[in-house]
Amino acid sequence: MTITHHPSDETLAAFASGTLDEARSIVVAAHVSLCARCRATVHALEQIGGAMVERAEPAPLRAEAIEAVMSRLDSNSDVSARPHVPKQDYPLALSPYDVGPWRRIGRGLYWRKADVYSQDGTRVFMLKAAPGTWLPHHRHAGTEWTCVLAGAFHHDLGRYGPGDFDEADESVEHRPFVEQGATCVCLVALQGGLKLQGWIGRLLQPFVRL
Ligand SMILES: [Zn+2]
Repeated sequence: MTITHHPSDETLAAFASGTLDEARSIVVAAHVSLCARCRATVHALEQIGGAMVERAEPAPLRAEAIEAVMSRLDSNSDVSARPHVPKQDYPLALSPYDVGPWRRIGRGLYWRKADVYSQDGTRVFMLKAAPGTWLPHHRHAGTEWTCVLAGAFHHDLGRYGPGDFDEADESVEHRPFVEQGATCVCLVALQGGLKLQGWIGRLLQPFVRL
């Protein structure tokens, strides 16, 4: 598995320190379980956090500290532990939650909802799209974090294959399409809904808004 898109340093730091909200943490956890590099980063950040707590320093992690960890990891060969590959049809990060059945929302497009509490209205769901599917052209009204579990999609910012993490916000407007060859399955935390464009978008709006 070659992973090229990772969560930002800030996201990993928030995840490691437990300050990231539950909905987004699930998607980051799914990535971390597949990515040896981020797993090592989170582990190192947790150790720094633990040391800081022991010294009773209330200051937040400095950016330099994160950079130091990252550069140490780049030269560290001890990050080759095998990634955890879940056996069930949803990622281990979802196992504490009720996960609904797959529902068809369009041609070659399915979603299933996970029952995750969120204070800011972020919804967690899985999306499954047949090879060659164009997802509706959309603009975000909030953040959309995605971890690819199988298959691959493309959009303006590149190719996203298994394990890749996509951190999109309201500045992103895109029309992803699913690569030929394999069904694409993603885990998504979506805040604030999508603004779907075009006639396909209008058709899907009632479904995708959940
Ligand atoms: Zn990673």
